[in-house]
Amino acid sequence: MDEERDSLASIARAVRDRIEWETALGSFGGVAAQLAAPAVDPQPRAAPERSAPAPGPKAEEAPASEPRPVVAARLAAPDRAAALRALDEQVGACKRCRLHEGRTRTVFGVGNPAGRLCFVGEGPGRDEDLRGEPFVGAAGQLLTKMIQAMGLAREDVYICNVVKCRPPENRTPLPDEMATCAGFLEGQLEIVAPEVIVAMGSTAARQLLQTTAAMGRLRGSFHEYRGVPVMPTYHPAYLLRNAEAKKPVWDDLKKVMARLGLPDPRAPR
Ligand code: SF4
Repeated sequence: MDEERDSLASIARAVRDRIEWETALGSFGGVAAQLAAPAVDPQPRAAPERSAPAPGPKAEEAPASEPRPVVAARLAAPDRAAALRALDEQVGACKRCRLHEGRTRTVFGVGNPAGRLCFVGEGPGRDEDLRGEPFVGAAGQLLTKMIQAMGLAREDVYICNVVKCRPPENRTPLPDEMATCAGFLEGQLEIVAPEVIVAMGSTAARQLLQTTAAMGRLRGSFHEYRGVPVMPTYHPAYLLRNAEAKKPVWDDLKKVMARLGLPDPRAPR
């Protein structure tokens, strides 16, 4: 399993390195060819030094690091879209973990390839598995309302999950499944390079922050994933069952809006 994780991490590194290389040369378009090669660069260039994904000091408790110096400011949206399509092709063919056995379609991600805000959930449910798109069921409709309440449209943000194939009976993905699929999420976040990530539910928070802390302790303040502020909050599916959690979630989203410099549409004028 470690080898599979390393392989996916290599794919993500190859995507990032290729983008940076092509961008430095003033051209882009080789990512698809790079990913379509039978083997990722057997001796990938050393990745740029980056902060550990572990839960570091909370961004509100220590000076937040600058948005990570990956490709955010240099890669045009069409190029990010091309890189995402290439990665999606890899996901579509992936059989690296047992979750591929029960899927109808892989569920990669949707939204703005250059979105300043990225929502990360747990994994596809039944509706998502059938449609091949994340967050299209009841929880997805609630997420859309949450995004609209922030003054944004669903198309403004990028939405994806920790695992790309539906777990049987909608169970929580197992640690080895999350670890095996992690390189794909890593690649998506490298390409989109959001300014803020919202981790919806404890599974997403645990994967991004590498912590076992409960959501009740995590939510309400910013943490970090490779220099990017992460706001953990409750999953929309949890909100459907626990209406009392809507206020704390809205409080979390208001902090995200403030971080992005977005006005609160609900604030009295
Ligand atoms: S969940 Fe991820 S690692 Fe597992 S088969 Fe699907 S795409 Fe591959």
